[in-house]
Amino acid sequence: MKSIDSTENLQRIDAAHHIHPFTDGKQLAEIGTRIITSADGVFLKDSEGNTLLDGMAGLWCVAIGYGRKELADVAAQQMLELPYYNTFFQTSHVPAIQLSKRLAELAPGDLNHVFFSGSGSEANDTNLRLVRHYWAAKGKPNKQIIISRWNAYHGSTVAAASLGGMKSMHKQGALPIFGIEHINQPDWWSEGGDMTPEEFGLARARELEAKILEVGEENVAAFIAEPIQGAGGVIIPPDSYWPEVQRILNKYEILFIADEVICGFGRTGEWFATQVYNLKPDVMTIAKGLSSGYAPIGGSLISDEVAEVIKNAGDFNHGYTYSAHPVSAAVALENLRILDEEGIVDRVSDTLSSYFAKKWASLSEHPMVGSANSKGLVASLVLTPNKESRAKFASEAGTVGLICRERCFSNNLVMRHVGDRMIVSPPLIITESEIDLLIERAWKSIDEAYEQVKSQGLW
Ligand code: PMP
Repeated sequence: MKSIDSTENLQRIDAAHHIHPFTDGKQLAEIGTRIITSADGVFLKDSEGNTLLDGMAGLWCVAIGYGRKELADVAAQQMLELPYYNTFFQTSHVPAIQLSKRLAELAPGDLNHVFFSGSGSEANDTNLRLVRHYWAAKGKPNKQIIISRWNAYHGSTVAAASLGGMKSMHKQGALPIFGIEHINQPDWWSEGGDMTPEEFGLARARELEAKILEVGEENVAAFIAEPIQGAGGVIIPPDSYWPEVQRILNKYEILFIADEVICGFGRTGEWFATQVYNLKPDVMTIAKGLSSGYAPIGGSLISDEVAEVIKNAGDFNHGYTYSAHPVSAAVALENLRILDEEGIVDRVSDTLSSYFAKKWASLSEHPMVGSANSKGLVASLVLTPNKESRAKFASEAGTVGLICRERCFSNNLVMRHVGDRMIVSPPLIITESEIDLLIERAWKSIDEAYEQVKSQGLW
């Protein structure tokens, strides 16, 4: 007789009552969920007693690693002192005020203002309304179109999924909503053809200018983009891409929304990836690393100019019950203190990035691995049957990626697949020896996947 909370029993109850995000429910019920029970540092424990190296920092968010008591203490104290209050109707509270100030200090340029949300998706919903409201307040109500990119990910709410460029999401729920235009992504490996990466980067950047001219500058409110596409497969653009995009943004009167939900708070070695690429956003989406995932919180960082216009345009009729939730804000503040005072962001930029880059790139020596690229502590590699021609597998996209992910799990490594790309984004507190372990398990898993691919005739 199995105990009430045996893995089997938990899986049965889960399958009966819990609908999982981005999941085929029927298939999951057949194979059963993996139940994570606790975590410490970069390691997860599951209900079967396995210890897994979390190469994904949860969902790209657990920057400071698991098990930091300081955050639990701050949350407990805040819950006792003021567990909830809102910031509507002429009220505020100390954690919201302190966190706003700290974010203004950390943010680049003049992003000195923040509108809080509960998540990255909500923040992008805010951004869509904010930029349209901004232009209307400036007497340009026709400026409503937001240009985004295919294969971008900006969240799952109606506005955020519309802004995103995931066709599988658009198919469900009649998306995108009005006024969103998509241009192509800077994914050289998959779409670069015979061009050099530099030529391709320029060509893809210039699609922004072509789109602005096609729909008319007078109708465009903003361009939104992730500095490095995350959920789309960790697509690190060619070096020529961002300078050309910034040149185009400077030339036209449109706003730039940098979605730093994944890249922000040290992931790429600077506090924000826009600093890595020398970009000048007017609005920045933040979430995830803001609280290291210990409490849900997101936000929109807003420039002086945009904030000034919004402030002088009457009520901004927008807000969430959990905008600047005091417990989340207090936890975020403590997380930012740890990231800063423990030198975690500095360590990523000074030592870990180059150590990790070298180790990660060594995976490209495997016969089934095409390029293996990283920036800071976010990385991808492409599985391919032919590195030279950058060929795709004949099987349905994602078949080989899924085989590889399954091998990773069985080797106690959490590495995600996006199609036939493998991606990682480990906690920023990972040590050199843990990086070695990650690479060792990744190599072993890729190698086992390679054998399986060959034996199944997928090669
Ligand atoms: N933007 C980006 C770039 C993201 O990666 C994500 C989440 N993966 C979101 C927005 C949405 O954030 P959330 O899941 O917190 O709503």
